[in-house]
Amino acid sequence: GTVYIVGTPIGNLDDLTLRAARTLREVDVVASEDTRRTAVLLRHLGASPKKQLSHHEHNARAASARVVELARGGATVAVVSDAGTPGISDPGALLAAECAAAGVPLVPVPGACAAIAALSISGFAAAGFRFGGFLPRAGRGRREALAALVADERAAVLYESPHRVVATLRELAAKGAGERRCLAARELTKLHEETARGTVSELAARYAAAQDEAGKLRGEFTIVLAPLAEEEVAARASEARDAAQDEARDQ
Ligand code: SAM
Repeated sequence: GTVYIVGTPIGNLDDLTLRAARTLREVDVVASEDTRRTAVLLRHLGASPKKQLSHHEHNARAASARVVELARGGATVAVVSDAGTPGISDPGALLAAECAAAGVPLVPVPGACAAIAALSISGFAAAGFRFGGFLPRAGRGRREALAALVADERAAVLYESPHRVVATLRELAAKGAGERRCLAARELTKLHEETARGTVSELAARYAAAQDEAGKLRGEFTIVLAPLAEEEVAARASEARDAAQDEARDQ
């Protein structure tokens, strides 16, 4: 059997591709993070797989083994996540790795992805980008991830929960990225879709004010940082050269 990694919408159901719909109708098994939520999508498509299986953060290893076993037994399996493309900052990655390790054929059925949707309107990613996913929540891991992000000259895309957006933007500013241009994309493809552009510091202030006014921020956020401006890249390079010369002199 083959395992199909199927992208599903990140909000708007019309973003489901024709091929995704056909795949979900034709496979024997559909594995998803939330089987009830997926059942709604399957009903909408008139799909009735023989079996639905749950694979999520907390059972990822056992569920992956089960998918491998089913595929080895000849079943076709579609893997979907709660939203977007499985494997991109969700448990689909482990499942794909386990299938690959077991020699089970994997076929992508591409669809929506919040990071790519946000990048596509950013205008920032012509020369590549860094995908940061979710930053670690605290501690040294978070500090190091923020420092690496700011040090990278390329555009960067991040996923963030609404209650951490302000803190993340403020911390990026504190690490020296305050003047960097930025796009915040909220609730893409949904009724309350909203995008905001400004520097990192401006967006931190904007969402801090919105948070104060509403009590808390709502919605799903994807943040895109612009690449470093050419002058900034040149300035960093000359600082690095000076530092190397100082070091050589001292030796
Ligand atoms: N696999 C998904 C994909 O391909 O986009 C991402 C899964 S990750 C668990 C969920 C995060 O994606 C959210 O916390 C948010 O940062 C981002 N996200 C998902 N849907 C979004 C939307 N409609 N608008 C903006 N960001 C979204």
